[in-house]
Amino acid sequence: MRRKIVAGNWKMNLVNTEAKQLTAELVGMIKSEIRKPVTIVLAPPFVHLNAVAQLIDKNGSNIYLGAQNCSSHASGAFTGEVSAAMIAAMGGAFVIVGHSERRQYFKETDHDLAEKVNRVLENNMQPIFCCGESQAERNGGRHFEVVNKQLEAGLFHLDAAAAGKLVIAYEPVWAIGTGLTATPEQAQEMHAHIRSLLQKRYGPVAQDISILYGGSCNEQNAASLFALPDIDGGLIGGASLKSRSFVKIISALN
Ligand code: PEP
Repeated sequence: MRRKIVAGNWKMNLVNTEAKQLTAELVGMIKSEIRKPVTIVLAPPFVHLNAVAQLIDKNGSNIYLGAQNCSSHASGAFTGEVSAAMIAAMGGAFVIVGHSERRQYFKETDHDLAEKVNRVLENNMQPIFCCGESQAERNGGRHFEVVNKQLEAGLFHLDAAAAGKLVIAYEPVWAIGTGLTATPEQAQEMHAHIRSLLQKRYGPVAQDISILYGGSCNEQNAASLFALPDIDGGLIGGASLKSRSFVKIISALN
């Protein structure tokens, strides 16, 4: 049985006091309101990892620490970078890899991303590997081709045992932070496509890999997306910065 996951990507938002306040609110609300077996991931900026880790109750809590990125290198003279080992030592369990903002603004290549996936797995964490097409690629009918290439280049060097530790997030670039959401049909179609690719490459383990939807997912549209058979939760940007909205999205999982 694959896990239901809701992950909050805080991006470059919140100073330390705000990050602590949001975490404290979420911990309280999730403890009292969320009864279902769902894995919740908070991915703050690196500088808040420790503060957030301190506030997440690890005794039976279903809230896990995530990072938004990591270095493709294990360690060394890479000024300004943060390694997967550092994140793991802080209590990290997940790392987002290949977010479209990293691909687009920081020119991260497929090769970089494959290496980042390796570093995350070597440190016993789970990559949340993002894929998705631009508006022009969808308009040109190339969305399946684009996603195929991203998955093949970033992930298909892994063996089936490693692939079983992956989480995938389908995030159409045109839906991220724009208020435009993929329709449930568009999202389910792509998720089913991704699962069939994983099935071809890895066999039955594909059924155990959670595939999250991301792109302007909010408390209004979450339930209709999460109801679909190949949508196993969400990667949430803007709406993860408001505790009530994020908890409503978690509640929308069935
Ligand atoms: C994201 O950044 O992963 C994301 C899905 O953002 P938003 O929910 O704001 O579109």
